[in-house]
Amino acid sequence: MANDAYDVVIIGGGPAGLACALYAARAKLSAIILDRAPGAGALASTGKIENYPGVRGSVSGADLLETIRMQAIDFGAHYCKASVMAVDVTSDPKVAYTSDGAYYGRTLVVATGSLGRAQRVDGEEEFLGRGVSYCVTCDAAFYSGRTAGVVGHNEIAAEEALFLARFASNVHLICPKSHLSAPAELLDEVTSAPNIVTHLGVKVREIVGEQAVAGVAVTDANGAESVLPLDGVFMLLTGTAPITNFLGGTLHLTPEGCVAIDRNYATDVPGVYAVGDVTCIHPKQAIIATAEGVIAALAIDKYISGRERVRVDYM
Ligand SMILES: Cc1cc2nc3c(=O)[nH]c(=O)nc-3n(C[C@H](O)[C@H](O)[C@H](O)COP(=O)(O)OP(=O)(O)OC[C@H]3O[C@@H](n4cnc5c(N)ncnc54)[C@H](O)[C@@H]3O)c2cc1C
Repeated sequence: MANDAYDVVIIGGGPAGLACALYAARAKLSAIILDRAPGAGALASTGKIENYPGVRGSVSGADLLETIRMQAIDFGAHYCKASVMAVDVTSDPKVAYTSDGAYYGRTLVVATGSLGRAQRVDGEEEFLGRGVSYCVTCDAAFYSGRTAGVVGHNEIAAEEALFLARFASNVHLICPKSHLSAPAELLDEVTSAPNIVTHLGVKVREIVGEQAVAGVAVTDANGAESVLPLDGVFMLLTGTAPITNFLGGTLHLTPEGCVAIDRNYATDVPGVYAVGDVTCIHPKQAIIATAEGVIAALAIDKYISGRERVRVDYM
């Protein structure tokens, strides 16, 4: 398996991960980006950027990201839409596990951003594993012929609702915002799915039940409260916490929950790096995340080649 390993497996396709891939590919390292949802990261969901050096006027975050992505691919990096659910950082090569299989890397880069959730809804922890889940790919089959909910507001929620609808007889897509932020074609698929009902502007107050989930207590856009009966619910909301859940405690985190790094963006595990908003570097800006990806790629090149001496890299 080590023979099939990439030099660099990058988890996350925001500006940090893409810039890392671009510079790795420029250095003739084999690199793959595993990206959960290209439209759901911080930059991708930003409507207008006007302060990214080299880009005059305003550009949408999604367009800027697409340009960096294509630039990385042009230099030979591979891009794969896949969600990493777990990693093994101690094996050689290191492994990133996705629902589509395992990816092996001599080095691993964590670039998953900070749109994770710190706050939980009442009942969420209590019913975790008893009807509350965060992974549709893992648990959708439990809801064959049953009624289940997906709570979220973006591309991830829309895609996962569609996947769940292959199993569940009824899917309730509960979106706390007034609209779902997802590409038009995905929204069309959701709208035309016969067994998905979308609830816009509806907030989940509590997950209710006795031994297992029986439903969710919700408040609609007009303030009306009700309980929606469900056999299970997938909580796919986003927030502002670093996304590190898939690391399973394998890397040292700071007290704020960020991945701890040194000046080369190396973590406490040799060959594993972290860049962008998943670290606690401030301020959080696209150009800074981009630069961090570049610094890590140069450090990785030295790590792989065994070069200790720092040389000036003009590439
Ligand atoms: C509303 C808003 C407005 C902003 N405006 C500006 C601005 O005007 N100018 C500016 O410079 N910066 C701005 N920023 C900040 C900037 O967007 C971030 O600093 C930058 O996007 C961080 O890059 P990143 O690559 O670390 O993370 P992100 O851009 O969040 O990308 C992370 C990527 O990782 C993927 N991912 C997450 N989990 C997994 C997983 N388990 N497996 C695989 N992939 C995964 C996500 O899908 C995403 O594609 C803004 C941020 C926000 C939220």
